[in-house]
Order: sequence, then C-alpha cells, then structure tokens
Amino acid sequence: MNSSQKVQHMMDFPHADQSHGYAFRLLELLAIPAFVLDARGRVIVWNRACEGLTGVPGYEVLGTRDAWRCFHRDPRPTLADLVVEQRTREVAALYDAHDTAGEQSGHVSAEGWCDMPRAGKRRYLAVDVSPICDEHGRLAAVVETLRDMTDEKQAQIALEQLATRDGLTGLANRRCFDDTLHAEWQRALRQQQPLSLLMVDVDNFKQYNDAYGHVGGDECLQRIAGAVAKEMRANDLVARYGGEEFAVILPNQSLKGAAIVAERIRCRVEQLHLPNLGAAKRFVTVSIGAATALAAPENDPSQLVATADAALYRAKHMGRNRISLTRETEGSA
Ligand code: GH3
Ligand code: MG
Ligand code: MG
Repeated sequence: MNSSQKVQHMMDFPHADQSHGYAFRLLELLAIPAFVLDARGRVIVWNRACEGLTGVPGYEVLGTRDAWRCFHRDPRPTLADLVVEQRTREVAALYDAHDTAGEQSGHVSAEGWCDMPRAGKRRYLAVDVSPICDEHGRLAAVVETLRDMTDEKQAQIALEQLATRDGLTGLANRRCFDDTLHAEWQRALRQQQPLSLLMVDVDNFKQYNDAYGHVGGDECLQRIAGAVAKEMRANDLVARYGGEEFAVILPNQSLKGAAIVAERIRCRVEQLHLPNLGAAKRFVTVSIGAATALAAPENDPSQLVATADAALYRAKHMGRNRISLTRETEGSA
C-alpha cells in the first residue's frame, strides 16, 4: 500500500470528514508512536513514530487486524484491541501494571514487556488507549499511544537488584530475607501451611581464609552460594544471611521435606571438592540447622530463625558436615 492509498484508507473511516482527515495527518506526524483501530479492530492509522518503534512500515499493517504481530511473537490482543472488543477485564492478566481509573471515559493505561519481533529488541512499553465516539455515542475508533520506557524500567530493576541482592554471591541479601520471611509467615498463617527454614554455615571457614586468603575465601563463598541455589524450587528463597552463613526459606515444606533439601545441599557442597587444607576434613563442608513451624498469630518468625540457629549449633557441636532438625512442636512453640 503506497502513501496515497494509505490516506485513501484513512478516508474509508466511516465517520471521516475534513476534520478527521486533518486529525489523521496530525497523528501521522506526531513524534509519539501511535496507531488507530476502527470500530471493527482494523488498523486505520499507523504513524511514522510507530513505524520507527516497531520496525513495521504502515503499508504492511494498515487495513489488517494484525497490529499485535508488531509487538508480540505469540498471538495476543493489543490494549486497543481489548478496548474495541470490550475486554478490558483481561488487561490485568496481560500487562505488568495497568490503570483503568479513567474507565468512565474509556481511557485505559497499561505497561509491560513486548517482544518487538521486527525491531529485534524487547522493549518495555507504556501504552495509553482512548476510545473516540461518534455524535451518537457509538464507538468509532480507538487511539493507542506508546512510550518506550525500557531505560527507566531497566534502571528500576537495577536499583531493586542493588537493594535486594548480595553483591558477592548474587543471592538475596539479609534485608530481602527478612522481608520474605515476614511475608511467607503471613502466608503460612493464612493458608495454615508449614514454613521451613534452613540455616547453612560453612565449616571451619576461618581456616580456609587463613590458607587461601580473603580473595580465595570470597570465591569459595560464591561456589557454595551457587551450589545451594541449585537445590531451590521456584518459591524457595536462598539468602546470604551474613558472613559465611546462608538462610533458605522453604514455604509449604514439612520438616521431613526440609531435611531432604538440607541433606541435598550438604552433599552438593561436599561434592564441589573444594580443598580445605586448613581443616581436619579434606573438603569444604557445611553444617545445616533445619526448623519448621506451623505459623500461629501469637508467634513471630524470629522464633523460627532462633530455632533453626539452635539446630545449626547442635550440628556444629556434633562434629560439623551434618544436618540437625527441630521438631515442629518445638518450632511453633
Ligand atoms: P565454624 O565451623 O564453627 O563455623 O567455624 P568458622 O571458622 O567457619 O567460623 P568463624 O565464625 O570462627 O569464622 C567465620 C569466618 O568467615 C571468619 C571471617 O573472616 C570469614 N568471613 C566472613 N565473611 C566473609 C567474606 O565475605 N569473605 C571471606 N573471604 N571471609 C569471610
Ligand atoms: Mg562457619
Ligand atoms: Mg558463621
């Protein structure tokens, strides 16, 4: 479709008149990426800025219902499609954030990651959609404007990383652990599910540092962190609790299940075969204390930490490179 056909197509718009033609031309030249769907969901405007953002020329998409292909690899509606089809209830499921506060006027905003298959680069887009009604109040068209917020989103993710991640190991930091434990405690309380916690401490690490230096010690902690993280399921959280100590939150996990995870972690670290010449044992090992609580309103999560800590102390006392468990009744007492 050449540019004169494109203008012709715009004029097919059922309610087009002089002023509509002028408005369309304005939209064409707007520096903000925008497209317009008619009441049947066909693309009737695809401006130059939108061509630049998506890498898709207008002639490929005008007259089609294929705007979504310019943003996503797999079939899914654009925000404008949802408004045309009166499916705005689906916005929450399809976007990372949304705002339907202006729903009275039909205005909907949302944001989320888009594949941008033709532009070849994933982008985080903020989109605003407004319906245009004719003089009888019938939907005539829907305008969608887009803002590329990728840089802002990446800066926000980097800041969140800084605030929640441990710099040495990349695991969750202590603050993130505290927040997560609190949230999981509340959830366990609501769902009456058990909540398990492992405290993992590297054995004889002072001697390791003495033998291999602080830099060698740091590398050892990174290897152990990686080994612990490999045993995690999607909802578990492993954090660097401090120094050479790690904490693992296991939601919905019984003490029996926690013991299995703890033993797997212990084995995996031992099998790293990191030599610890300074220690009596040949390889770097960890001791693990496990505790499980059935959350109760009169308790608080710090008791679970104290119970797991006491179990860890027992594992150390019994000779290290082992796990020690605390029964549920003790954990929730
Ligand atoms: P135990 O088996 O009883 O746990 O003995 P340990 O030697 O591991 O325990 P101790 O608390 O005596 O020593 C912990 C050591 O961990 C001392 C400290 O220098 C070292 N450490 C703590 N944080 C770091 C770190 O970030 N990097 C390095 N390289 N060493 C660390
Ligand atoms: Mg230690
Ligand atoms: Mg320690």
